[in-house]
Amino acid sequence: MTAVVIAVGSELLRPGRRDTNGDWLVERLLDLGIETRWRSAVDDDVERIARLIATAWKDAGVVLLTGGLGPTEDDRTRDALAVAFDAPLTRDPAMTRWITSMFSARGRVAGPRQWRQADRPQGADWIENALGSAPGLLVERDGRVLAALPGVPAEMKAMFSATVAPRLAAAGGGALARETLRIAGRPESWVDEVVRDLYGTRGTETTILASPGSVELLVTARGADEAEARARLAALTGAMRARLGIDLFGSNEETLAGVVGHLLAARGATVAVAESCTGGLLGAAFTEVAGSSAWFRGGIVGYADDVKSSLAGVPAALIREHGAVSEAVARALAEGARAACSADFGLGVTGVAGPGGGTADKPVGTVHLALADDGAGRTLKLDWPGDRELIRKRAVTVALDLLRRRLLA
Ligand code: ATP
Ligand code: MG
Repeated sequence: MTAVVIAVGSELLRPGRRDTNGDWLVERLLDLGIETRWRSAVDDDVERIARLIATAWKDAGVVLLTGGLGPTEDDRTRDALAVAFDAPLTRDPAMTRWITSMFSARGRVAGPRQWRQADRPQGADWIENALGSAPGLLVERDGRVLAALPGVPAEMKAMFSATVAPRLAAAGGGALARETLRIAGRPESWVDEVVRDLYGTRGTETTILASPGSVELLVTARGADEAEARARLAALTGAMRARLGIDLFGSNEETLAGVVGHLLAARGATVAVAESCTGGLLGAAFTEVAGSSAWFRGGIVGYADDVKSSLAGVPAALIREHGAVSEAVARALAEGARAACSADFGLGVTGVAGPGGGTADKPVGTVHLALADDGAGRTLKLDWPGDRELIRKRAVTVALDLLRRRLLA
């Protein structure tokens, strides 16, 4: 079964206002084995809301709306339902009485404005609202379900859980199982090439997503029940794991820094960093991991050349000869961090994050990474373009991955 989720309310179209009701509903639907096909946010316009409802009703077995059920003139979801289903609104006397009694119980008087909330399109049922005065509306027809819920998050959630979810579960969406596979150090196109022929596996769906320096495969499997969904998921992710090998660093909520931390902890080793263009982001990534004090020693942000020398011990002559953005300086930063912090491993990062500062032989996006250990260490050069944020984030991810691969070697 599939769903459409529509958020009604002009205020949701302003910058910074997020449809968190929709986020919550999509998550709950997935728990019920129902995948959302599309989502939308729409202003308080009857015709536009009605058009969306009509399209959604054709597209999916489940349509969920939030917002626009209040007593005020700009609450238009009821009217839109009447238009979409060509079912005139009729006032329910029992609901009118309930609203009136709700108000008088609170020492207030209900009037025509409040009674609007007792209007419903013919054929729709009420969804009881235990927390507020706006009841929801339920339309069930030809095996399809539409629920209109208030915009107030607490009311919406309570009503969905109490009334809508049980109906959807009864309608038999089957079960879904999900896993996210995380890959580092390979471009999206490479990952896609490696697993593409598995995308069509029966009862499953795979989405590929690229982040700076890493790629995610979001895998969903459907089954008649949870056991079947899980078995399908395990079979597919197992096949993907086998192909991705060491390039796969983790799954679900695992982070690259967390995985590196585990590997360090397992061998009782420590790491330190000396960063230029990432300005502390690498150290921040390590310290985001709870318990990182066991294996993260500390770091140096050596932004100015003389600080690279005075704090990280990079010889000034090396910077003069090779330039601050060079393999030699990255290596010296890594060695400097390792020595200054008495760590087993040192990571050095130096690069041109832009937008200015690029040259013909060191364009924006040039980043040199180095790993220092008790042997020859490792170095890596990135030369992919991008904006400042992307270049810095990618440098952090690849630096973490450089250490991960060393620890697995
Ligand atoms: P009410 O009975 O309170 O009028 P309503 O159904 O008319 O309910 P709205 O007036 O649209 O709902 O919104 C009520 C409150 O809920 C607003 O403060 C709004 O910020 C919040 N809200 C509405 N829609 C959403 C949404 N999609 N995501 C998060 N919050 C929302
Ligand atoms: Mg309202």
